[in-house]
This record gives sequence, C-alpha cells and structure tokens, in this order.
Amino acid sequence: MLDLRSMEYGELEAFLMELGEPKFRAKQVFSWLMQGVDDISEMTNISKKTKELILEKAYISRLRIREKYISKLDGTVKYLFELDDGNCIETVVMEYKHGLSVCISSQVGCRMGCGFCASTIGGLYRSLSAGEILNQVIYAQKDIGKRISNIVMMGIGEPLDNYDNVIKFLHNVNHPDGLNIGYRHISLSTCGLVDKIRKLANENLPITLSVSLHAPNNEIRDKIMPVNKKYRVEELIEACREYIKITNRRISFEYSLIAGVNDSEENAYELAKLLKGMLCHINLIPVNHVEEREFYKGDALSIRNFQDKLMSLGMNATVRRELGSDISASCGQLRKKVL
Ligand code: SAH
Repeated sequence: MLDLRSMEYGELEAFLMELGEPKFRAKQVFSWLMQGVDDISEMTNISKKTKELILEKAYISRLRIREKYISKLDGTVKYLFELDDGNCIETVVMEYKHGLSVCISSQVGCRMGCGFCASTIGGLYRSLSAGEILNQVIYAQKDIGKRISNIVMMGIGEPLDNYDNVIKFLHNVNHPDGLNIGYRHISLSTCGLVDKIRKLANENLPITLSVSLHAPNNEIRDKIMPVNKKYRVEELIEACREYIKITNRRISFEYSLIAGVNDSEENAYELAKLLKGMLCHINLIPVNHVEEREFYKGDALSIRNFQDKLMSLGMNATVRRELGSDISASCGQLRKKVL
C-alpha cells in the first residue's frame, strides 16, 4: 500500500490520473491531506467511486499523541508521537516572537553515535517516511490550533542519513497548495555527512544548513563524534565552503560546549581560525547532561568567556536560549524513558 502523505505532489497527480481522475484532483486531495484530514471519507469534494479506487491502493499514515507536556516556564510543547507501527518519536513546538517553530525528528533512533547525545543510545531503528516527517508538522499544528511558521530538523535522527525522504518532505511542506512554509523558514541540522552536504548544495533549496561541529580539531572531534573517523574536519569545512559558494547561504555551526573537553580559550582560538572568512554563524549550546554520559556543561562564566573570545576574534557567535527545561530535558530522552 502507498502512503498518500509520502507522495510528492507530482507523484500524487500521476497516481490519481492513473485511476482515471482529471489533473486538478491532486490539488484537492493534497490540500485535504495537508489540512490534517486523515480519513478519506472526510474529503467532501471527492466522489465515492474515486475514494474507493484510492483506498484499493493507498492509505494515509497517521500519528497518535502518546504523551504531551507543556512547559510552565515558556509554553514549549513536547510530544511523544506514536507511529503506525508502534515506534515513537519526539516533536517539540516552541514559541518565538516571529511565530511558532517546530523541531521534528527524521529517524527512529540514530546510528551516528555522538558521545553526548541521547537519541543515538540504542542505535537506529529505522528511517521515517516523507509522510511521517510531514505528519509531525501537520499534527502539531492541528493540536495547537495556530499556524506553524518555522521548522527545524533537529529532533531525533540524522536527516542526511534519510536523504531522499527528507528532500520529498521539504518539497511537500513548501508546496503552495499545502502548508506553504518557505524554505528560508526551514533549518536542517547534520552531524556532517560530507557527500550529502555536497548533494544538498545542488538541490536548489534555500534552507538554512546547520552543521554540528562541536570541536575545533580532529583530536577532540574524534573523541565525541564517530562520524569524524569517516569525514575529517578539513574535509567537512571544505564541503561547507563549497556549499556556501553554490547556495550563497550562511551556514550555522553548532558547538555544544562541554566542560573540560572543548571549551578552553585555546579551543576558541582554534575554532575562530578554522572558520575564518566563512559566511557563518556559531551557535553555542551548553551541553545538556544525559544520564548515561559523562559530559557536563561549564558554568555561566566559562560559557560567556568562550563566546566573548570568539567575538573578539571577529566571529559571529550566540549562546542558544534554553526552552522547555522543565519538560524532560534534551531531545531523545523522552523516547528512551518510554522504551
Ligand atoms: N543529527 C543531526 C540533528 C541532531 S540534534 C545533527 O547531528 O546535527 C540537533 C543538535 O543538538 C546537534 O547539533 C546535536 O549535536 C546537538 N545535541 C545532541 N545532544 C546534545 C546534548 N546532550 N547537549 C547539547 N546538544 C546536543
């Protein structure tokens, strides 16, 4: 069976025309799907006969809200969604001045193995389909009852390890007959799969690329990110430079500050040297402590010093604001607890 929400607009059009439907039918069905209708019988402008034909070959993937938490501090909402096969993923909605932003997952688990991250404990179960990625936006928007205007792909999973489905999802979520979320309002975060960064550069999608760097050199990166064994820091930075050249878009480098591991003054110097002259921004994230791991954040002063050092060296660096700290800490932890 085919999942209607995993089809790109053009695929849906071809599918319906094969059933003998006119071209415009796709626009109607697509629009229902994106509004969150997940029962074909509710699509009131589609004939009974057409609905029967569709149901012979296709279904609509769904999510079930298994748990939901609302932060008393800042209104951040965290969902534990259950997929059709019983697996669980996390989705978070945050409110900013410019509107609602949703942080979505791309896989059930992750196989990248970053030392400080909760999502990778237990490895990769499977990748999400394009429809399952999209459903997080659709369901969160429906549940909250307000338009979601921004998307960050920073939940569970490595988006570029699920490349084709992520690209399909991006096309669909941007489609004017659907949610119509602009590419400039979408960020995708990767641990640095160099071959896929090069591929993404040529997709002509003006999204924001975030790269999880977390270290200024190979020695430190080797200790915390296994992906660095495959793609060395120099290779990664080279791919990022090319990405910027091709897309003309600024890259955001994420740097989780871990006390005693990557937060010294010398590390700040090295980082500034590495990124010198690039069209980029550095996003400092005081590391969230994960129970199973031996990594801790430094005190407020050390974080401030690291940022100041970078700025004095001409870099553009900010410290990420912590939201929803009262509703189950860093990403991946909620799912793990339930498992
Ligand atoms: N696979 C993607 C998305 C991961 S989550 C990637 O690696 O970029 C988004 C960001 O949170 C990444 O930069 C990730 O390295 C970071 N992160 C994961 N666990 C963290 C923790 N415990 N504390 C701080 N940042 C963390």
